[in-house]
Amino acid sequence: MSDNIGYLPLPKSFATTAIHNAQEPEQWSCNEVVPPISMTTVFKLSFNEEDSPGSHKYKYGRFGNPTRNVLEEVIAKLECGYSASCFGSGLGASMTILGLLKQGDHLVSVDDVYGGTNILFSNVANKFGIETTFSEIDVESFEKALRPNTKMIWIESPTNPTMKICDIEAISKLAKKHDIILVVDNTFLTPYLQRPLTLGADIVIHSLTKYMNGHSDVIMGAVVAKNEKLAKEIAVLQGSMGIIPSPFDCYQVLRSLKTLALRMNQHSQSALKIAEHFDKHPKVLKVLHPGLPSHPQHELAKKQTSGHSGILSLYIDGNLESSLKFLRSLKIFALAGSLGGYESLAALPSIMSHEFVPQEQKSKLGITDNLIRLSVGLEDTDDLIADLENAFNLI
Ligand SMILES: *Cc1c(COP(=O)(O)O)cnc(C)c1O
Repeated sequence: MSDNIGYLPLPKSFATTAIHNAQEPEQWSCNEVVPPISMTTVFKLSFNEEDSPGSHKYKYGRFGNPTRNVLEEVIAKLECGYSASCFGSGLGASMTILGLLKQGDHLVSVDDVYGGTNILFSNVANKFGIETTFSEIDVESFEKALRPNTKMIWIESPTNPTMKICDIEAISKLAKKHDIILVVDNTFLTPYLQRPLTLGADIVIHSLTKYMNGHSDVIMGAVVAKNEKLAKEIAVLQGSMGIIPSPFDCYQVLRSLKTLALRMNQHSQSALKIAEHFDKHPKVLKVLHPGLPSHPQHELAKKQTSGHSGILSLYIDGNLESSLKFLRSLKIFALAGSLGGYESLAALPSIMSHEFVPQEQKSKLGITDNLIRLSVGLEDTDDLIADLENAFNLI
């Protein structure tokens, strides 16, 4: 990638790992180059003398499946973790992480955490006696939010949709000082561009639904643990909470990871080009993209990431009516509430992902009716710029 000068270097052998790690053909009965999809719920146990029924790696599909296992090994290696576990959705992965806590524990989360995660903390975890404080993004605010019973800190970087950057290393030092588990949602950047475990985090969580799968046809999540202790606890929770993915979906994500590096390079270049193009546009008040030197945390972004993904937001010069007209005029960008796929999407967070967030909090976060979030896909950049230009001409 040509534009990552000043950022952390891109990870070495990333694509090779995605294509080959844990995928040696010799492990399968016919030397399959593509790991087979093991569509079985149960595995026959043998009674060999040296091989008791209890010692088998695979027994029942909830606890482990060969296709899922390959995917988990690839994700663990890419994220520089000890092990990974996959789940039926990103939120299923988040729910499982909450299983590390118990009644009476306290959680501190960044305030503009993903909407679904916010609801999980404030409407579900609270019923199990786990209270959450939402903190502003700076380390001082996190420190103030801590209580004697704080057991977990949950951050996302960059945040959605305002693209704020969390100082992962500084927050990890705070967490370590107080013996608190630090969880980082790495969905927006993927391990190709950000590796939170190397910055001091304990757990990485992913919605694989987004860039990792990247083809908008699978909902899945993953949790990566830094060490053996957390890995064992999460594996037990995976088996006992049961929020597991299907072997077919695991195959789809495994296939998608082989092009992750290529896809991220293209998303990244295209989004930066669009950000630069519209930064000075007469109908744009401001572009939010961590790769722009005008971004207040551009230096921090360079210090802790290897680049930026395909997400950016823009404040257009107008009101709700103009935003709706703009969105209706787009022909390539589809109005949709997801991100990270090969297709370009546009969203209006104030009435979509943040519809139910109280007005006062929305204003505080900067989520106004003229804020539009783009997920730049893999179409030709010039076509995307032309599509946006055309929509601006119509408002
Ligand atoms: C989509 C998303 C989630 C939730 O993942 P699902 O796969 O939809 O359950 C969590 N975090 C972030 C940052 C997301 O974008």
